[in-house]
Amino acid sequence: LKGDNSSLSSAEKEIEKALRPLSFDDFAGQDKVLDNLKVFVTAAKQREEALDHVLLHGPPGLGKTTLSNIVANELKSNIKITSGPVLDKPSDLAGLLTNLQPYDVLFIDEIHRLNPIVEEYLYSAMEDYKIDILLDSGPNARSVQISLNPFTLIGATTRAGLLTSPLRARFGINCRLEYYDSALLSSIVKRSSHILGTNISEEGAFEIARRSRGTPRIANNFLRRTRDFAQVKGDGHITVEIAEMALAALDVDQNGLDEMDNRILSTIIEKFKGGPVGLSTIATACGEEAETIEEVYEPFLIKEGFLKRTSRGREATERAYVHLGIVPRYRTGE
Ligand code: ADP
Repeated sequence: LKGDNSSLSSAEKEIEKALRPLSFDDFAGQDKVLDNLKVFVTAAKQREEALDHVLLHGPPGLGKTTLSNIVANELKSNIKITSGPVLDKPSDLAGLLTNLQPYDVLFIDEIHRLNPIVEEYLYSAMEDYKIDILLDSGPNARSVQISLNPFTLIGATTRAGLLTSPLRARFGINCRLEYYDSALLSSIVKRSSHILGTNISEEGAFEIARRSRGTPRIANNFLRRTRDFAQVKGDGHITVEIAEMALAALDVDQNGLDEMDNRILSTIIEKFKGGPVGLSTIATACGEEAETIEEVYEPFLIKEGFLKRTSRGREATERAYVHLGIVPRYRTGE
């Protein structure tokens, strides 16, 4: 998925790690979520109990992994990180769970993609800190129940709607992360430049921020690329001109839409008369997976008013026509 960091080189992963906020105070934005989490973490610590299980949902790159690490830091606990698709069988999960120390955090990314058998196994662990382990096989098979140390599960998902209701019901704390506004992203970009030792102008930071799809991961990525341009084509300082040059080279347009965003909009308008058209039809026509369009591209296009979701499918809005410089057919009388 765009927005994940699997394609980064190891040097870039190191940089990404260095840019990651480590405490509540370093984390910009998401005020409501942060204020609530601070209360719940403090209360759990005071009572010497495990923090209740937390579900974090929202588009990729908004800080779910970062926040989970921060919660573990603030609890002064360890964090074990895994993801839904990696947990193949109950024994994978049992191995992780039985190794947790009291009040540790288990972070499961993409929790909506858990295998149903593994998911069911998680229920008693979450509810009673107990799991059943199967010993032996065949006629000697028997199961024993073992107790786990109290722990906190933090589940992250881009698609809260895909979670089964029994799983969702077992999270006592449910937080939705929102896209960041340009002012906040600008402060994140400035903080990151400072860590990277790169000089950046106020306007340069704002230019990167406003074209980063409301997403810190994208802002940091653009910053790294802009820093390269500043070094090679400029004098190392990031000015608004350098930022504009870098973003143009990366095919990021004035509204922060990239090539795929624009392809989705122009496909709906040019091939399907502006819609409504179904998601899978758009996906085929654009050569992208429906899931990626739904999780990564569409939420931002909808939020920015380029796209509408209706019961009959997706529709391009007036703003999409204006953005692409296309006159709607109903205007031309065609
Ligand atoms: P998610 O898990 O939601 O996909 P991440 O937690 O991996 O997102 O965040 C991606 C990157 O964006 C992180 O490496 C971090 O540097 C940066 N980031 C995210 N949220 C913030 C924030 N609120 N303040 C500063 N940097 C952030």
